[in-house]
Formats: sequence, structure tokens, C-alpha cells
Amino acid sequence: MSSKIETFTEEFLKNLNATITKNSSTWNVENIPQSFQDFVGLSAPYTLNFAESTDDSLFVGRGSRFFSAMTQYLENVGKNTILKIDFDDSLHNPVEEIRKRISLKNCEIENLAKTFTNHFFTRFTFRTQFRYLNESETVMGEIYVHDGEVVSGDLSGYRVVEGTLDSSSSSDSSQSSHSLNVSPDTLRPDHEIAIARVKELVISKTHEISEVLEKNLGEEESRIRIHYENLLGELGGDLQSRISKIKELELALRVADGVEADELRVKHERLQKNLVKIGDDDSRSRILKEQSFTLQDAKTKHSLTIDNKLMNTTIIYYPVYSCNLYLKGYDSKRFITLSYDPLLQKLGAINCEVCKNSVVDINLCSNGHITCEDCLDKCGECGKIHCKTCVSKSCSGCAKKLCKSCSFLCFGCSNYVCINHLRNDVVTGEQRCAMCLRACLRCHGLTEAKYFGEAIDGSKVCQKCLGGERRGEVLKDVFRE
Ligand SMILES: [Zn+2]
Ligand SMILES: [Zn+2]
Ligand SMILES: [Zn+2]
Ligand SMILES: [Zn+2]
Ligand SMILES: [Zn+2]
Ligand SMILES: [Zn+2]
Repeated sequence: MSSKIETFTEEFLKNLNATITKNSSTWNVENIPQSFQDFVGLSAPYTLNFAESTDDSLFVGRGSRFFSAMTQYLENVGKNTILKIDFDDSLHNPVEEIRKRISLKNCEIENLAKTFTNHFFTRFTFRTQFRYLNESETVMGEIYVHDGEVVSGDLSGYRVVEGTLDSSSSSDSSQSSHSLNVSPDTLRPDHEIAIARVKELVISKTHEISEVLEKNLGEEESRIRIHYENLLGELGGDLQSRISKIKELELALRVADGVEADELRVKHERLQKNLVKIGDDDSRSRILKEQSFTLQDAKTKHSLTIDNKLMNTTIIYYPVYSCNLYLKGYDSKRFITLSYDPLLQKLGAINCEVCKNSVVDINLCSNGHITCEDCLDKCGECGKIHCKTCVSKSCSGCAKKLCKSCSFLCFGCSNYVCINHLRNDVVTGEQRCAMCLRACLRCHGLTEAKYFGEAIDGSKVCQKCLGGERRGEVLKDVFRE
């Protein structure tokens, strides 16, 4: 009973190209593809024990963990395995990562909510068999593909559990963002990438074997050719010697008589018969035919067969967090979304909204813009912290930098001014900058140059004063009547 299991185990492990070292009561097994280790749920190397279970060995018998892993693995050849990386929240807490990695200068996190979506990468386990002469060599390879690229995969250090593919027909809409939709179509590009990689990986081995085979074949072919040349040579050489032998006999027959002559005659007859056989073109072509067959056979024996088999496809999924942060500054608020990939340990970038560079030290402008230290500015009027975009104006009177709410547009000259350089036009009642207005010497009010006129006494006064003067004239005339 147990010997059957041992044979099965040995066959199985050899197929995986594992290294088995047999001890008196246990086997040490190394070089096991990760995909099978995942089935066992234990990291290799293994010490296998077919008789009993001990603290430092794995029992292999019907119903044992190792045995069912082997049968499961065989059942799954060519199928997909789904695994999930279970991240320890205390080690991979996205909120903690955000707090650790970014520094908030003039604002704080008022509210933070996290959600996640499942991302996945794929592992393809290949077995490549090289068959040539009477040899067979096996190479196992595991290729990880993530985001369309071959990556160096290593799951050690992660807690990997059996995963499930959520059915797409899930009626719960809140769950839908968490479901993993992997169809054969989704995997096809990854599969092609992996196959291309396997071909790359076996190419040097193929060259190595082919070179040896070619050299061997060359030697074998020249051996075959020499052999058949000898045969042909013998054919010709034999013919010559036999002809001269017959001639000798014919000469001897002339002088022989009696029994001796009878014997010579029989011999002559036999040689003559053989001569006909040897001289036959058939013999020659038969030898040549046999040679070409032997050469072809040698070629076939020296050909290399490469057999690639996809043993297992594993889809490994893991959560990528999306954190919604509500930042609160002194006088503004801002909502931002940051992603955190716990596998790559990568936090989504935050960029300065002025210079577009990624920032770690975050400032919030009074208008809610995310700003780096270099792109911060202050309004010369209200003193509030703004980003450079928000204090892009300056007063045409005093050159003070101004924020939007502290700058005023003069409709006379189209320049911006600060509150101190803003005046009221006494004639139109509109606001103008101080530079666009002139003072009336009579009322000391300000108005644009075009609103000045000549008073009765010849002085230049504003329209307002002129109007007053005219009204006075009219009244004087009325009283004179
Ligand atoms: Zn910046
Ligand atoms: Zn201001
Ligand atoms: Zn701003
Ligand atoms: Zn000013
Ligand atoms: Zn002006
Ligand atoms: Zn005036």
C-alpha cells in the first residue's frame, strides 16, 4: 500500500523537476514550484515521511495534507487557481501610510474614508521538456505577470489564502467594486507575455543541446559513410579478385584432367554464378539505399523535441485602497483621493497645482489649491496664504501683490489696484484708480480729465462744480426779474 504511494509521490515530484534526497526513513524534497507549495500551503523544502507523522516531517499517506495537495494539483493542471493576498491591516494600513508619507503644513485631515478595488497579477507555471537521443530533461519555470509586464514574483512574507472569483451577477451593488472579473480574455495577453518569456528562457538550453546534437550527428554521419564506402569498396575489390581467380581456374582446367578437372569445373561454375550475383547493379543500389536510410535514421535520432506545458495559472489578487481625504485649512477645504497599493507599497502622487511637481509637504491655499512650499505666496493686502496662481495680480500704484478679493479693476486703464489706490469719481460716481483721476481745485473731488471745464473766473473745475455754477447763474437771473 505505502509503496504505491511512494511511487506515485516520486513520479509526481519528478514531473515537477523537484530534487529528492532519500534518507533511511524520510525524503528531503527541494526545488518545488511555488504553485505546488501554494497547494500544500507550506513553504518548501519538505521532509516527507511515509510511515508516520513527526514534528519535523510531513506524513504522506491517503487523506494526508500532502497527498491531497498532489491529487488536487494534478486535477488543476491547465486550470486556474485563485489566491488572495491577505494584507495584515496593522502592517499595511493605508491611513497610517498616508499619515506617515505626507506632511500637512497648514491644514489637517478632517475626514478620511477608504474603499478598495481588487487588482491582480498572474503566475504561470510551465514545464519544458527537452527530448533527444534517449535523454529527457525537464525545466520548471514560474513567470509572474503584472500590468502587462514580467515581474520578479515572490510571495514569501505575504499571507496567501484561497480566493474566490466573485460572480459578476452579484446583485449587491456595493460589492460590485470589490469583485474581480477575470475572464480567459483578460488573461490572454498575460499568457502570451509569459509564453514569450518561457521561449526566451529555454533558448540558451536549446542552443546548448542543439550544438551537442549537431556535433554528434556529424560524427555519426561520417561513421556511416565510411562504413558503406567500405562495403561498396569490398564489392568492387571482391569482383576483381574473383575474376582473376576464375581466370586462374580456366588456365588450370586446360592442363588438368580426370578427377582434378571435374573438381576445377565445379569450382569454376560456382565462382561464375557468384560473379553474376556480385556484378548485379542491385547489390550496389541496395547498399546505397541502406546507407541513406541509416543516415535518415541517425538524423531522426538526433532531433530535439521541445515540449512546453502550462501546468498552472494562478490569479493572485489583492486590494488597492482608495482613500478619500477631506483637508481643512484656515479658511478653505479640499477633497482629494489618494490610492495606496500595499503590494507595491506605493502611494498615489499628490501634485502641486501650480508647478505640477509631486509634493510631500502639503499646503492648502486660501482658495483650496494644493501647493508646494515654493509655490506659496502671501497677499500684500489681507496677508492670507495663497498659491502663486491666486496672487498673480499686483497694484499698479504701489506694486503690492494682491489676491483676488483684494484687487480692483480700474475701467479707465484696465489695471488692478489695491484698496488704497482706489478712488471714487465725483462726477460719474464710478471707481477708478488714483492715477486715472485728477483733483478739482474748487471741490477737491476727483474725476477724469475729460470731465473738467472752464469756470466763470477762468479756472479749470470739475463738471460737478461747473453744474453748480450754472445753477447759481440761473437763480441770480430769477431774482433779478
Ligand atoms: Zn509648486
Ligand atoms: Zn488679499
Ligand atoms: Zn490658489
Ligand atoms: Zn496700491
Ligand atoms: Zn486707472
Ligand atoms: Zn469740483
